[in-house]
Amino acid sequence: MDSVNILGVRVDNVTTAETLALIERFIAKGQPHQIATVNPEFVMRAQQDGAFHVVLEECDLSLPDGAGLLWAARLLGHPLRERVTGSDTVPLIARLSAARGYRLYLLGAAPGVAEQAAAVLQRDYPGLQIVGTYAGSPDPTEEDEIVARIVAASPDVLFVAYGAPRQDVWIHRNLARLGVPVCMGVGGTFDFIAGVAVRAPLWMRRAGLEWLHRLWREPWRWRRMLALPRFAWRVLRQRFSFRRGRN
Ligand code: UDP
Repeated sequence: MDSVNILGVRVDNVTTAETLALIERFIAKGQPHQIATVNPEFVMRAQQDGAFHVVLEECDLSLPDGAGLLWAARLLGHPLRERVTGSDTVPLIARLSAARGYRLYLLGAAPGVAEQAAAVLQRDYPGLQIVGTYAGSPDPTEEDEIVARIVAASPDVLFVAYGAPRQDVWIHRNLARLGVPVCMGVGGTFDFIAGVAVRAPLWMRRAGLEWLHRLWREPWRWRRMLALPRFAWRVLRQRFSFRRGRN
């Protein structure tokens, strides 16, 4: 699989169609696999958080979720073909699952939200099997009980909505004992599907401005989002030093 290295973090150069085909392959194989939805905040976090960096390195699939990654990859001379976001992919996985009989489990988000998201997905994709929903918490004291619930439900696909990096670290730590073929961190996706959060309008997403919409809706994010200008600066510096190195 082709991938792009962005500030030391691997991002897989996959399209949405390829992602769905890989998910089918992971489920056919049966062993547990981890999928991360990478954005510039992930990349900047990985610069200082060695454990998170390892999680991203060991993921079976690192999706190019953030628009900033496409910008960076183009600038660094190895463009990514498509932006593949968690929020867009989850409903497509649900559609695929309804067609193939895959079993889904929705873990995380505020109490009641995973249930609402499940109801929306089952309305949109009749026949979809959702074998469990649970808000739970990423707190380690709850971990054994949550893993036991999921193992008992035996899903093919587990979506975990605890926000990054917690959800991805949680999946990585429990992947082997979960034994679920596809485990994916999905951030705020259940909130969008359930309608408790509003996603940016299509024109903003297409313009790569989803971050601006989130900042406007959730201004408390400003401190975390300082990662974006830092990311841009680091990418520009990396490109500039490559150029100098070539001359
Ligand atoms: N969340 C949760 N438990 C926690 C922290 C967060 O269930 O202890 C949920 C939260 O309700 C939301 C999601 O995790 O549904 C995080 O969404 P966010 O948009 O913050 O994702 P991020 O941008 O961090 O990936």
